[in-house]
Amino acid sequence: QKFVYDFTEGNKELKDLLGGKGANLAEMTNLGLPVPPGFIITTEACKVYLDSGHEPAELRDEVSAHLDALEQKMGKKLGQPDNPLLVSVRSGAKFSMPGMMDTVLNIGMSDASVAGLAAQAGDERFAWDSYRRLLQMFGKTVMGVDGELFEEALEEIKRAKGAESDLGLDAADLQQLVEEFKSIVLKEAGREFPQEPREQMDLAVRAVFDSWNTDRAKLYRRQERIPGDLGTAVNICSMVFGNLGPDSGTGVAFTRDPATGHQGVYGDYLQNAQGEDVVAGIRNTVPLADLEGLDKASYDQLMQIMTTLETHYKDLCDIEFTIERGHLWMLQTRVGKRTAAAAFRIATQLVDQGLIDEAEALQRVNGAQLAQLMFPRFEEDSKVTRLGWGIAASPGAAVGKAVFDSYTAVKWSRSGEKVILIRRETNPDDLNGMIAAEGILTSRGGKTSHAAVVARGMGKTCVCGAEELEVDTKRRRMTAPGGIVIEEGDVVSIDGSSGKVYLGEVPVVPSPVVEYFEGRMHAGADDADELVQAVHRIMAYADRVRRLRVRANADNAEDANRARRFGAQGIGLCRTEHMFLGERRELVERLILADTDSERDEALGALLPLQKADFIELFEAMDGLPVTVRLLDPPLHEFLPDITELSVRVALAESRKDANENDLRLLQAVHKLHEQNPMLGLRGVRLGLVIPGLFSMQVRAIAEAAAHRKDMKGDPRPEIMIPLVGTVQELEIVREEAEKVIAEVEAATGINLKLTLGTMIELPRAALTAGQIAEAAEFFSFGTNDLTQTVWGFSRDDVEASFFTAYLEKGIFGVSPFETIDRDGVGSLIRSACEAGRAARPGLKLGVCGEHGGDPESVHFFHEVGLDYVSCSPFRIPVARLEAGRAAA
Ligand code: ADP
Ligand code: MG
Ligand code: MG
Repeated sequence: QKFVYDFTEGNKELKDLLGGKGANLAEMTNLGLPVPPGFIITTEACKVYLDSGHEPAELRDEVSAHLDALEQKMGKKLGQPDNPLLVSVRSGAKFSMPGMMDTVLNIGMSDASVAGLAAQAGDERFAWDSYRRLLQMFGKTVMGVDGELFEEALEEIKRAKGAESDLGLDAADLQQLVEEFKSIVLKEAGREFPQEPREQMDLAVRAVFDSWNTDRAKLYRRQERIPGDLGTAVNICSMVFGNLGPDSGTGVAFTRDPATGHQGVYGDYLQNAQGEDVVAGIRNTVPLADLEGLDKASYDQLMQIMTTLETHYKDLCDIEFTIERGHLWMLQTRVGKRTAAAAFRIATQLVDQGLIDEAEALQRVNGAQLAQLMFPRFEEDSKVTRLGWGIAASPGAAVGKAVFDSYTAVKWSRSGEKVILIRRETNPDDLNGMIAAEGILTSRGGKTSHAAVVARGMGKTCVCGAEELEVDTKRRRMTAPGGIVIEEGDVVSIDGSSGKVYLGEVPVVPSPVVEYFEGRMHAGADDADELVQAVHRIMAYADRVRRLRVRANADNAEDANRARRFGAQGIGLCRTEHMFLGERRELVERLILADTDSERDEALGALLPLQKADFIELFEAMDGLPVTVRLLDPPLHEFLPDITELSVRVALAESRKDANENDLRLLQAVHKLHEQNPMLGLRGVRLGLVIPGLFSMQVRAIAEAAAHRKDMKGDPRPEIMIPLVGTVQELEIVREEAEKVIAEVEAATGINLKLTLGTMIELPRAALTAGQIAEAAEFFSFGTNDLTQTVWGFSRDDVEASFFTAYLEKGIFGVSPFETIDRDGVGSLIRSACEAGRAARPGLKLGVCGEHGGDPESVHFFHEVGLDYVSCSPFRIPVARLEAGRAAA
């Protein structure tokens, strides 16, 4: 096993082994770009070190061999007194973890080599400046000295000299600073700064390895879901100097604007400085375009290199570069991060430039980005006051009055106020307040904090971990930087897509992307913005290649119409229980309370025309497309009054001796139907089997509605779906009854209805006996919400708010199984049920109607297992279309 690679030996595909930075330095070297020579210690070496506590035995010799070669190439030796070679020791993991790990520049500087470096460069000041920088960085990152102490010493000498910046210090000042830094190191670290160059290098390498496991690095990885065992590579790169005078400098650049995707010159440049100065913001940078006036030759070369990189990587790249006395050096590049809007624009721009094809364009965007673009947003202008900036935990734009406890949140929202619940962090007791609030703001916690997880689950706007904000729940106030105090009742606005928090009400504008999907903006129109055009094109690519169809979960004409505008190819789940609410509740109550057949038939008879009218509307909205109607699913007690409230009412009435007959009957029924575990009780097909006539009435309503639509020359395509089936016998009984009703309606109307009948697969037993069930079902629709509950034994309503945060933090799962399908457990059951079902009935139609139908990851899984369609809420349809396209491309 080889632990060290020269830059000339690597390439960009080797990110696992060489880290992103190393792999790309190697790639640029092999492209012939000006990269200072160097070599890379692999992530494998780091893993050995992290596992065992020491470097692999072979590492030392391998490093020596590569260092020798480097010294030969450069014609100088590391730290050699009269002609020193200096190097940087740089961290670089597979995934970029900006600012999380360490880098040390100017390794090789020592008391002995200052004079040599000064002679080499003909610049004494520069030599002392390089030395003090090494002491500072090495002292902090390798020897563990508090960086503030160096900063203070530097400030002190600047003050004494009346210097505005470090440029105002001369060689003697810097020499003095070097002495001070050395004594700080000795005092704080308890040992001298190591003068021996190779020892400096080895210690720095070890420090970089160690920086993989700092608390901040671990936290970052957890938030970004980067595995903890990848380790970092270490890049040893010969130094080039941007601090050699005004004809030197350092900068960062993007090949296009990461915010809009526009091509142009984007970046910052800092004259007479070393790389870390740009990030640290010690002096003000100038826009990259100004470099043209400062050093035209380097500027032109940089522009050319940027074009080379874009053409080569076929994507937006970001770049670090340094100019040493008019000579340009490339120090880093990578495919750059970008906003959601830029991702869509760049993907289509690159297609237009012929750099990528449509299939590749689909891989450059994702559903999460599209979802982000669909949220309404704040119109930020100069008038708004920003209070702080936290973690964008759950997207959306929310405005409301500040409240600092759940009780007030609930109370105020009941009286019609919009509120933002502000807490340091939330816990399960805050659930009611979170539900009542427009949005949630916390000053502590990351993307997996309780607030973040629960808010995302509810689709509620949330900004968390806004640490600049001081939340004082006792005094019901929050203090923002600059001393702005927000009292209970003051209006704040929070943006869950950017993490920004504003004072007062910031106006909200609808997303242009939604305007486009709604058909209120046309991609071809002159004033359609570039983003809408890009989305339009990407959606067209996705629709062209996807195999999965996308349907909507909808149970009224309004939702159905929206779904159609958003591209739905039918309804995958119409929940009939939603049609039993409101004033119809009373009819359901009568049905439940019926003592005799005639009472029951009467109640059913009253419900029939209402159901029928609902279906007519729905079939009309979805004319020509399939509509899957699920027969009544929830337990009956959901239609009856709450047991406690009713008991109290009856008890009070009895004490007044005016108990009402109906209430008494109701209470009896409520008691009879009360269940410990309603989720596992009398619901779904079980209801249909014990309440005679219920399912028949629903089937009749569907059949008559279809007949009516046909009569009106429509094209209704209903599919009748039976919920919560566990065994084929249940389905067979319902089927027989349904077929009889359908035949009756066909005979009465003389219309051939061609209705199909299928079942949900949402119990483990159904999945395990899918082959048998398929004998009686023309389609399966996986109800992944219930299936996840029953496979895991989780009651969703209970577990999400109680222990899921702890599970996520412990890494038991990376994401809630209710959000993304659990491939190994629930997923494997789905996979085998598909196989068994299709084996028993070739051509069996397969779909999914749980919330997972609109989840990007899950859509890929459903594509893989060969479902025919996914069904999701109307707003998720574009996301599902896009992801189905990405899965197929
Ligand atoms: P980060 O990953 O935090 O950006 P880097 O390893 O890229 O850390 O280095 C920090 C800064 O030092 C960057 O600005 C980089 O360009 C600069 N730098 C790194 N190596 C050298 C070198 N050999 N010569 C000059 N500048 C360097
Ligand atoms: Mg860098
Ligand atoms: Mg269900």
